[in-house]
Amino acid sequence: MRYEGDIYRPPSEGGSLILQATVGCSWNRCTYCAMYRDKRFRVRDLAEILEDVESARRTWGAGVRRVFVADGDALVMDTDAWIPLLVRLRERFPRLERVSAYATARNLLEKDPAEVRRLAAEGLTLLYVGPESGDPETLRRIAKGATAGDHVEAARRAHAAGMALSTIFLLGVGGTDRSLEHARASAALASAMDPAYLALLSVTVIPGTPLARAVARGTTTVPDAWGLMAEARAFVADVRPTHGVFRMNHASNHLPLGGFLPRDRDRILGVLDAALAGRIPLKPEWARGL
Ligand code: SF4
Repeated sequence: MRYEGDIYRPPSEGGSLILQATVGCSWNRCTYCAMYRDKRFRVRDLAEILEDVESARRTWGAGVRRVFVADGDALVMDTDAWIPLLVRLRERFPRLERVSAYATARNLLEKDPAEVRRLAAEGLTLLYVGPESGDPETLRRIAKGATAGDHVEAARRAHAAGMALSTIFLLGVGGTDRSLEHARASAALASAMDPAYLALLSVTVIPGTPLARAVARGTTTVPDAWGLMAEARAFVADVRPTHGVFRMNHASNHLPLGGFLPRDRDRILGVLDAALAGRIPLKPEWARGL
């Protein structure tokens, strides 16, 4: 297998084969994100990607069950390249259960619904989409490149094709002045997208990003741990997925939490209330990861 630069994957893909089809992120402008700033975006040659599939088969055998296709928004790759990749993956790994990738709303909307259906039918069945916020002002500030309405339409198309969604919202990214608007609008967007998996992460100010420069200039401030807990509480209280796996256990969070929503709402709110009342200690700032 050949990889270019640092490779990122969702925590839930820890046991998956990681196959790099694109290098970097085609958008690469979100103000808080440093993942691909050092990479010039490109789609790898299909022949090279298929060679990596053969290499993975030699290394790992035929028993691979999950494949995550990197990098940052791999869905941007042309459907004409995706289809032979998905076909080859199924040929070489007959027990394959799922192929997944990061995607932006824009990636989904740039493909026509028939293409999205073909991708799902060929095995691309899970997309990780990070609106980060449902608040229009926050989405504008963080340069997400898509509106809440774009995300709802993207989710509708993915679901209509038979894909599952894992959505990511980012506590604190609205700044202290938009904190609760951000949390509530994010809950509304998550409800409208109705994903199978919902993750709450906490914003981390990474040196070199536009967000870090805004914080240094004093034009934005990020909520402290208590403010982030208050946002999490507002989000969980409002969000209404049909049946979603909820995770707040990413290394960036101050308090690991998980369960199903709406089933476990009261328990999760109870833990958040206990944390806000100081009865459960929060992870100190220095112990947080990215
Ligand atoms: S779309 Fe994702 S990978 Fe690309 S810049 Fe935004 S957060 Fe980073």
